[in-house]
Amino acid sequence: MDQDNYVACEVCDALHHKQHLIGVASARCTRCGSTLYRHVGLRSADRELAVAFAALITFVIANAFPIVELETNGLTTRTTLIGAVINLLNGDRTLIAAMVALATIVFPAIELMALIYLLLPLRLGHKPAGFDRVLRTVQAVRPWGMIEVFMLGVLITVVKMTSIARVIPEIAMFAFGALTFLSASLVTFDPRDLWDLADDTIVRLAALRANAARDATASTPAAAVPSSRDATTRPS
Ligand SMILES: [Zn+2]
Repeated sequence: MDQDNYVACEVCDALHHKQHLIGVASARCTRCGSTLYRHVGLRSADRELAVAFAALITFVIANAFPIVELETNGLTTRTTLIGAVINLLNGDRTLIAAMVALATIVFPAIELMALIYLLLPLRLGHKPAGFDRVLRTVQAVRPWGMIEVFMLGVLITVVKMTSIARVIPEIAMFAFGALTFLSASLVTFDPRDLWDLADDTIVRLAALRANAARDATASTPAAAVPSSRDATTRPS
C-alpha cells in the first residue's frame, strides 16, 4: 500500500484516500468536516517565490555588512557575522561558532537557494533536475532553519560577544530583523505543497505536448496533400 496516497484526519483519525485537487482548494473530512489538506494554486507559489527572492537579497545584505565592533589591543574593528564566527573559532569557542554558523548562515542559505531552485523552474513550466532529492533536503533542513533557532543563533552571538564586542545597530542588524519576518512568512509554506505543484506542472506539460502533437499530425497531411483530400471528399 502506498502510504503517500492516504491521509488521516487530525481530529477524528478517519482514513481517507488522497485525491488530487486542482486550483486553490482544500479537502475536508467526510466524518467531522475538518480540513485534511489543501492544494496550493500558482498564485501561492508566486508569492512564495517573491518572498524567497526578497529573503535571499536580505540574507546577502545581512551578511555583507558589519554587525559587530570588536576591540582587540585597543584597536576597534568592525566585522560581519561570518567575521564574528571566525573570531569565536579563534577564541576556542568551536561549538558555539559551529552552531551560529549553521543556524544563521548555512541552513538559511541552503533552504533559500533550494526553494528558489525548485520554485523558479516550476513557474517557468518544467520540473528541475533532482526535484525529489532537493525537496527532501529542504524538509530535512527546515527544522534547523526555523526562526527560533535563527534568533537563538543571533542571541548566542550577541551574548557571547558582548565582553569583547558591541553590536552595531546598522544595516546588517536591520537586515537580520527583516529576514526574521521574511522567514516567518516562508515557514507558513508547506514544502509538501511543491509535490502538488510539480504534479500540476507535469499534467499541464503533458496536455500541451499532446495538443502540439495533435496539431502537428492534423496540419501535416492537410498541408502536404490538400488536393488529394479535395479530390476524395468532393465529387467532381
Ligand atoms: Zn475527521
